[in-house]
Amino acid sequence: MIQLYIPLNFLGVLYREVKQSLTDLDKMFGLLSREREVADAPGARPLDVREAAVRFEHVDFAYDPSGKKARQILFDVSFEIPGGKTVAVVGPSGSGKSTLARLLYRFYDVGAGSIRIDGQELRSVTQDSLRRAIGIVPQDTVLFNDSIGYNIAYGRPGASRAEIEGAARAAHIHDFIVAQPLGYDTVVGERGLKLSGGEKQRVAIARTLLKNPPILIFDEATSALDSANERAIQAELKSAAQGKTALVIAHRLSTIVDAHQIVVLQHGRVAERGTHAELLALGGVYARMWQLQQSQPDPVAARG
Ligand code: ATP
Repeated sequence: MIQLYIPLNFLGVLYREVKQSLTDLDKMFGLLSREREVADAPGARPLDVREAAVRFEHVDFAYDPSGKKARQILFDVSFEIPGGKTVAVVGPSGSGKSTLARLLYRFYDVGAGSIRIDGQELRSVTQDSLRRAIGIVPQDTVLFNDSIGYNIAYGRPGASRAEIEGAARAAHIHDFIVAQPLGYDTVVGERGLKLSGGEKQRVAIARTLLKNPPILIFDEATSALDSANERAIQAELKSAAQGKTALVIAHRLSTIVDAHQIVVLQHGRVAERGTHAELLALGGVYARMWQLQQSQPDPVAARG
């Protein structure tokens, strides 16, 4: 009986973990209760990460290509993130920025063109290996109704307490955690401790630091944090991105002036591409967005 019980119990735990991680990721990407669209190709191989260079090549995409309301979202999008560099994507609301992140994580397959990591097409590698290679700091972090330690360890199941604390320190959330009555065992969520937007983002950064993946996706929150918090989070993101390949979806242009390249999306097309200085000199869409944000007290209001 015990022999039977243990594997079943284990399966239960496994099922819960898998289900929970899918729920988490789906929520992160706003894809609640929908069928997952992609599957491993027969003979798919694990992703072999070397430089972690990412390349979008002539990508077209529609969410529901065969549906009645099929609408193309991305048109012939090409850009490259050299290994270890940061590329930022900016553009008006609805221009397709988050869609690029979803495609890189292979929540969907591209309609035409390809996405490659170190030359390997995403469709030819196992999803498991792809998702291990990518860490995401989403706009709105989903926290489980569990301890704050569990919520951070979720970045790397099996991490030791010392590793969890190390990540929390680096994300500047450790002091906040130890000030709670039960420290790392304090339960967060609907019936537990409520975290502010900035604290949640720090938990997401700690998770990602613990996972330590070669590729990062940062989806900058659209909601404004106070400016001291904002600057601190930016500094933490920057140190998390050190030496990693990063795709940053930015709403505040001031946060991405140092990016290796900035891609300006408009209606699903690459309208402009270059460094901050090059795009300002171009005097086009980006330069106008920059001027607008400079003259606004609340930069978030200047989106699009
Ligand atoms: P924001 O700055 O507001 O986050 P964005 O540039 O990231 O916007 P996306 O989220 O990529 O834009 O959305 C691009 C377009 O795709 C929008 O018109 C949106 O309505 C549509 N879209 C997004 N998700 C889905 C989905 N799951 N199914 C169908 N259409 C979608």
